Amino acid sequence: MDELSAAAAARSFVGKCGPLAQPVSVEAYAAAIGGTIKKEALNDGEDGWSFRKPNGKYNICVNCNQNGRRQRFTVCHEVAHAVLEIAPDHSQPSWSFSRRPQGEIFCDVFAAELLLPYKLFKPQVDLAEIGMAAVRTLADDFDASLLSTGSRFATFSKNLCAFVVSEGGKVRYSARSAALRQAKGWIRPGSLLPAGSYSARARGGEKSSGPEEAHADEWLEHWDGGDGLFEDVLHIDQWDQTLTLLWFEEDDVPAPRERKQWEEQTYGLRELDGNLPWPSRRKRR
Ligand SMILES: [Zn+2]
Repeated sequence: MDELSAAAAARSFVGKCGPLAQPVSVEAYAAAIGGTIKKEALNDGEDGWSFRKPNGKYNICVNCNQNGRRQRFTVCHEVAHAVLEIAPDHSQPSWSFSRRPQGEIFCDVFAAELLLPYKLFKPQVDLAEIGMAAVRTLADDFDASLLSTGSRFATFSKNLCAFVVSEGGKVRYSARSAALRQAKGWIRPGSLLPAGSYSARARGGEKSSGPEEAHADEWLEHWDGGDGLFEDVLHIDQWDQTLTLLWFEEDDVPAPRERKQWEEQTYGLRELDGNLPWPSRRKRR
């Protein structure tokens, strides 16, 4: 198992669950594994759990103290445990990126595919004007968290694009588009937000007001791909969490043919172009 096969398994699962609504119905996903969702007040930091009953059906429990979008993600994550047959390891809190067990990461990848299905989400990323406003709108439309939505927005962007999550002014995680990975644009986890950057200023209390030009070499390690980077930011004071979207305008992106090859090489597989027939007997339209 790797992240790609987790994503592929999720797409196959989604394909078997019938026509997609937007936002998707997590109840329908749960029902597809014979799961019943219960809401209970769990401990802080605990997202949920599930277990398989002797009759083969599942009980899925989510923490009602968490917000609705988190609960939706948790349902999908628990469905992932069942479908991928990965035993849960919930000893670490889910927000701890660095210590997340591999099996949990696979289930998160699966869950993101369920909440923001490629077939629905990717065309909307292609149409969107890049920026944090688009991420917010899509998060609302898909009833998903900014974090999941931003990560997938960058992953599927045609542009050189990254979504960076920082906590306490330090980069924790970044999701990059195939084009940026191919161009070797790398943002080091653990690095500080560049001093004076839009993101650092937003963290310092400055109101963000749409995209700004940024210095590519301050964000991207050993970058020799030229300038023309844009930055947009959303700082969440409550958790001292800074969400940054970085991208180059499309003019600077290589031709579509090359790009397609990249997608196949780096994120993988023809199924990403949406043309792969689902292993399902159901016909659309
Ligand atoms: Zn889990």
